[in-house]
Amino acid sequence: MTETETFAYDVVVLGAGPVGENVADRTRAAGLSTAVVESELVGGECSYWACIPSKALLRPVIARADARRVPGLRQSVQGPLDAEAVLAHRNYYTSDWHDDGAAQWLDGIGADLHRGHGRLTGPRTVTVTGADGGQKVLTARHAVAVCTGTDAVLPDLPGLAEVKPWTSRNATSAQAVPGRLVVVGGGVVATEMATAWQALGSEVTLLVRGKGLLGRMEPFAGEFVAEALTEAGADVRTGTSVESVTRENGTVVVVTDTGDRIEADEILFATGRRPRTADIGLDTVGLEPGGWLPVDDSLRVTGSDWLYAVGDVNHRALLTHQGKYQARIAGAAIAARASGVPILESDPWGAHAATADHHAVPQVVFTDPEAAAVGLSLAEAEQAGHRVRAVDVDMTSASGAGLYADGYKGRARMVVDLEAEILLGVTFVGPGVGELIHSATVAVAGQVPISRLWHAVPSFPTISEVWLRLLEAYRDN
Ligand SMILES: Cc1cc2nc3c(=O)[nH]c(=O)nc-3n(C[C@H](O)[C@H](O)[C@H](O)COP(=O)(O)OP(=O)(O)OC[C@H]3O[C@@H](n4cnc5c(N)ncnc54)[C@H](O)[C@@H]3O)c2cc1C
Repeated sequence: MTETETFAYDVVVLGAGPVGENVADRTRAAGLSTAVVESELVGGECSYWACIPSKALLRPVIARADARRVPGLRQSVQGPLDAEAVLAHRNYYTSDWHDDGAAQWLDGIGADLHRGHGRLTGPRTVTVTGADGGQKVLTARHAVAVCTGTDAVLPDLPGLAEVKPWTSRNATSAQAVPGRLVVVGGGVVATEMATAWQALGSEVTLLVRGKGLLGRMEPFAGEFVAEALTEAGADVRTGTSVESVTRENGTVVVVTDTGDRIEADEILFATGRRPRTADIGLDTVGLEPGGWLPVDDSLRVTGSDWLYAVGDVNHRALLTHQGKYQARIAGAAIAARASGVPILESDPWGAHAATADHHAVPQVVFTDPEAAAVGLSLAEAEQAGHRVRAVDVDMTSASGAGLYADGYKGRARMVVDLEAEILLGVTFVGPGVGELIHSATVAVAGQVPISRLWHAVPSFPTISEVWLRLLEAYRDN
């Protein structure tokens, strides 16, 4: 029988995804002893089954599409992608699903890594069960930070388990290109993975329950992406749900609510995420297992003075950059409280409050064309009661867009708060706009008055000149 070891730290971080790593980095930088508990791979979903592998798959897809829009280059890039090389490059970026480098980094910042499944077993206490069944009890003097992320949600369809459907994990780690792939969903994961696998050689059918793609963005974003996916050869069917799915002699057979029968080699469900909180001992500290963990702006769980929930698990914004932003704030808040400094009371809008979670969350969708947005859409701004005006321009009104790509297609919208004359939200769709979104994030997060934006002069001839067109359209109408 193995003995239970006990350890005492200032801070215990549950989950070593990008968010847990960053909480540990900040608490270590503040001189607090910190333990990190990880049951799978240090680096989390993002490094091995989400952001990194998906973008490694998409980069050649987008680069080829861009090159095909450049006269003089187009002819040289007509052939298919070298799928084997793309998958090998993706494998390189995930370190072949090994986390030695990430574990070494944790060691370098002076955090102790405990491998195993962590569960709260009472206030400020985490019990870690290792692969050999051995247990360690970690106590935290100041804080436990839950950074356990999310899992993919599968729909409740009879017999689905026997079909062995893909989730985002399979879609980002598959080692071969399926001949035919059905993708279910219309959000970011569905559209990005449909884009990637279609370009890598699959015949993709995208089944979307709603009216369009990318439902959280301005409606035109999804329209551009749907049109381009269709042009690329994907079969995009909106207003369609899966009624049943079976696997017959290896072939996936999907029947839709519209009566269609589709055969495929694999089916990917990109139909949402749920928090990994069902088995982390929340009941031992008076909380309901399985739910999202609501937090205040210092990322402390409502009603607790020692439990924090950071990143995906609090449901504020399921994005790595926002989770890392929260981690910096949570780390600073834990450190300040450990030294007796009150946080929100003394600094409600300053560095120690996650205010950008509320009004300036940026997101890039790496489809072809890219879609990028920050802040509120027009509908969200109106719903929130702002008096607003939406200003739309064609991306080709910037001469840089035409130079970037022959036949450039795209659109930009800024949502202006007419009281304060600041921007509440900005959306761009078009090739190359992913790198444009940070200019909008600065404008929205900084609440830069429109009168000052005129003095932020974009370089000629860049796509960024679309900013001038947006300001002119606002002034002239
Ligand atoms: C296909 C896909 C593509 C994406 N692309 C992007 C993108 O381009 N940009 C972007 O910003 N976001 C992207 N996201 C979202 C991004 O992956 C998440 O926002 C991010 O991973 C959240 O980080 P996290 O640290 O909160 O959680 P995770 O990355 O999920 O990490 C949580 C960690 O906790 C560990 N853990 C869980 N429970 C326990 C336990 N009980 N004990 C011990 N360890 C535990 C897990 O093993 C995991 O390592 C994408 C998501 C998907 C699915």
